[in-house]
Amino acid sequence: MKLYSNKKNDGYTIIVGCGRLGANLANTLSDGGGEIVVIDKDPASFRKLSASFGGITTTGDATEMVVLTNAEIGKATAVISVTNNDNTNIMVAQLAKEMFNIGQVIARLYDPERECVYRELDIDTICPAVLSTKEIDKLLGVAEAAALVPAAAAETEGGAV
Ligand code: AMP
Repeated sequence: MKLYSNKKNDGYTIIVGCGRLGANLANTLSDGGGEIVVIDKDPASFRKLSASFGGITTTGDATEMVVLTNAEIGKATAVISVTNNDNTNIMVAQLAKEMFNIGQVIARLYDPERECVYRELDIDTICPAVLSTKEIDKLLGVAEAAALVPAAAAETEGGAV
């Protein structure tokens, strides 16, 4: 079975790992009109895909070359590896970048201390721990600012009297 069109510039995205993040991403990109292939070693994980998901699912361990070649990784324009295992993500990202010359490669990273390794390999990363910290810091900043507003207003009012 031919999974995809032969045209290189058709452009499709391979998502490795159909967990909470991978499925959400796959649903969002698919709903936005993207051509998506999702790989996961656990076929039950595909239940997380929405009814409107219009992509292709393929079962297998993405660290195995045969699984990647069966998914025709060489024709993908982007590979996003978001399994729950940093070693798997770095291996898939490295294969995509170095063996298949994929232009855009993104890997999920649990351990922020390993970010420098990915940077050296020119692989973009998303680190949930770092993103969450930034968001929490932002929320705390908003809360702090909100707490300051009434105080500032009272000060102004006081000063105006
Ligand atoms: P989550 O932690 O909810 O984001 O889920 C991570 C997903 O990655 C799970 O569905 C796992 O089955 C999947 N996964 C982990 N290792 C691999 C691998 N080597 N190949 C393919 N999928 C994997």
